[in-house]
Amino acid sequence: MSIDHYAFASDNASGICPEAWAAIEEANTANVGSYGEDSYTEEACRLLCTVFERDVDVYFVFNGTAANSLSLSALCKSYHAIIAHKKSHIHTDECGGPEHFTGGSKILPCSGEHAKLTTAEIDRVVMKRRDLHFPKPKAISVTQCTEFGTTYSVDELRTLTEFARSHHLHVHLDGARFSNAVASLGVSPAEITWKAGVDVMSFGLTKLGVGVGEAVVFFDRDLAEELDYRCKQAGQLASKMRFLTAGWCGLLRNNTWIEIARRANAHAQILREQLSLVPGVDLLFPTQANAVFARFPQHVNAAMASKGWHYYELAGIGDSRLMCSWATCKEDIFAFVNDLRQC
Ligand SMILES: *Cc1c(COP(=O)(O)O)cnc(C)c1O
Repeated sequence: MSIDHYAFASDNASGICPEAWAAIEEANTANVGSYGEDSYTEEACRLLCTVFERDVDVYFVFNGTAANSLSLSALCKSYHAIIAHKKSHIHTDECGGPEHFTGGSKILPCSGEHAKLTTAEIDRVVMKRRDLHFPKPKAISVTQCTEFGTTYSVDELRTLTEFARSHHLHVHLDGARFSNAVASLGVSPAEITWKAGVDVMSFGLTKLGVGVGEAVVFFDRDLAEELDYRCKQAGQLASKMRFLTAGWCGLLRNNTWIEIARRANAHAQILREQLSLVPGVDLLFPTQANAVFARFPQHVNAAMASKGWHYYELAGIGDSRLMCSWATCKEDIFAFVNDLRQC
């Protein structure tokens, strides 16, 4: 088997996993209703209700930026503000999507160790300005697992959401890697969402293995009013919706999504262990999901690139982010670490 030099580049570098692919193929055999009026979309919604152990209101969109922007647009008006970590995807990687779709809500970035929000920081931001001349904080956005591959425990999340509630703030959860968090924490999806005070989430399975299609999941149906119009206007209502939702069916039937996430997380742990044995490598942040962040000696990133390896240098100057996906295998890990030792 040849070495996969993109093995750790991104969980987006991986293809569609076999379980999702089989379901998409199955969906390609007959004519069905369009714009979500089909049995796959119906099943995916039903499966999400089962996953969350309650009735939920679901909107499938093409990607995570759309899911975040549209869910936040349901919570905030143009004169509102959204509190998020300064490393959050909504703040750093969505080209102003949330600001655009809310019609102008300002994102108020916070600090916090391991890319996690804290009540102290939310408090600081909320209390700094209480006057009419500054946008009114209306929501917090929490990423689970975080952009640095760390997780919020159920207690940490509850503390945040209770604090948010006391300041009349809605709670949005960016769950682009929610599966990895569920697998890592070993809790039920309900426990770290609505039972912990989350109002709406962006639930992503793209990185996990479906290829395309993220879900906006409302736990509070009232907040979803007219979101169908927003989705359509934003160009996010898929006409052949079944090709977004069949993959979801493939992964949500039989807990496959959790097993795949658990496997990716386990590979990240193996990668971390192997990296810890290489002299000169510093590991950054706890590895609580499918990402490993490391700092290599200065010349190493260029040397690894010349050996063909692709990965992001993200957290700070020269810090390397290594992602594991459903497709990661031990051979990739050993090949990477071997090359690293040589560098
Ligand atoms: C990948 C990712 C998204 C979604 O990004 P898109 O490219 O828009 O699909 C959202 N939030 C986080 C934390 C992500 O890592």
